Amino acid sequence: MTSLQFQPELCRQCPTVDCLMKCQHIRLDLEAAREERLKILEGRDSRVLRDCLTCYACEEYCPYGNHPYYQIVEEQERQGIWPVPIPLTKQQVAMMTPKGRAAPEKLPGPILDLCYFPMLAKTIRGKLYEGVSTVVGSDIFCNIMWLHFAKNSVIRERLPKVIDTLWNFYLKENDREEVICYHDECYGTYTQLAPAFGITVPFRPIHLFEYLIQRLEALKDRIRPIGLKAAYQRPCSNRLIPETQPLVDEIFRRVGVERVQREYDGENALCCGGVLQAMQRDDQVEDIQKRNLDDMQASGAGLCVFNCPFCFFTLGEAAANRGMMPILMSELCQYALGEKVMLGG
Ligand code: SF4
Ligand code: SF4
Repeated sequence: MTSLQFQPELCRQCPTVDCLMKCQHIRLDLEAAREERLKILEGRDSRVLRDCLTCYACEEYCPYGNHPYYQIVEEQERQGIWPVPIPLTKQQVAMMTPKGRAAPEKLPGPILDLCYFPMLAKTIRGKLYEGVSTVVGSDIFCNIMWLHFAKNSVIRERLPKVIDTLWNFYLKENDREEVICYHDECYGTYTQLAPAFGITVPFRPIHLFEYLIQRLEALKDRIRPIGLKAAYQRPCSNRLIPETQPLVDEIFRRVGVERVQREYDGENALCCGGVLQAMQRDDQVEDIQKRNLDDMQASGAGLCVFNCPFCFFTLGEAAANRGMMPILMSELCQYALGEKVMLGG
C-alpha cells in the first residue's frame, strides 16, 4: 500500500494551524485547533473528523503542503467515520467500478480527457477543439471523488490502473506524452494527489485553462467580447491546484468578461453543495447555496461561470432562476467565438 506524504512533526510544531483556523465550516480558536489537530495525529476521535464537509480547502490552507485533508480522510476511514451514509457509499463505489472496456485506440491530434462525463462529448466541437480527440469513461475516471466518502483505499486501488490505462492505451499508443484534463479533478489528481499518495504519473497533464488560452490566442481575430459581468464558481478540486486560479482571469480578459468582486471567491469560495446533498446535510446545503447565490447576485453578475460539470449540474438551475446565465468555462469561450453553446445557453 502506498503511504501518504505527511509529516506529523510539521503539525506538532506548527504555530498557526491554518488548516483548521481557516476552515469555513468548523469554528475553532487556536488552542482548540491545536488540540483537534493533535487528536487526529494521534489517531483519536476528533470533532473535525465528524464535522468536516469534505470541501478540500485545508489542502490549500496549509502553508507547508502537508496534506491535512488527506490525513483527515485517512483517519475517517481507519476509524469508520463515514461522511456519506454507508449504503450510499457502497452503492456509489459499485456503480463507479471500472468496466474494463478500454482498449488501445488510434487517436489523431491532442487528447482531451473528459473523465466520467460522457455528456460533455457533444460540447467538444467547433474551432475551439479542432483536431482534438476525446477519451471518456469509467476506466479513466480519476477516482478522486472518494475523498468525499472517506475511501482513500478505493483511490489507492483504482488510480494506478486508471493511470496505466490512460498511458498505455491512449497516450503511448499515439506517441503522446501529454493529456489535456477537462476537469479540475483530473488535473488535481495527476499533479497533486498522486504524488501525495506516492503514485507515479508518467505523462504530463495539461489543465483545460492552458489549452483554452492557447486556442483563444490562435483564434483571437474571431473573438467577439461578451461584455458581461460574471461570478466564478470555484470547484472543490481547484483547492489542490490554486496556481491555476489566475488563468480564470486571463480567460475572462480574453473573452471580454469582468470577474465580479465578491465575498465567496478565491480562498473563501463556497462548495456548490452537491456532495453535501449526498451527505444528507440538508440544512447546510440550503445555507451554503443561499449565501453563495445571494453573494453572486449582489455582485451584479449576469453570468455564473463553472468549470466543474458537477457544480454546473448542482447549482446551474438555481443561478438561472436568479437571472444569472449558467455556463461552463469551455462554452464561454465557444460563445465568445460565435459558436453554438450546447449546455449553458
Ligand atoms: S497541516 Fe499544515 S497548517 Fe495544519 S497543523 Fe499541519 S503544518 Fe500546520
Ligand atoms: S476539508 Fe474543508 S470542512 Fe474539512 S476540515 Fe478541511 S477545510 Fe474544514
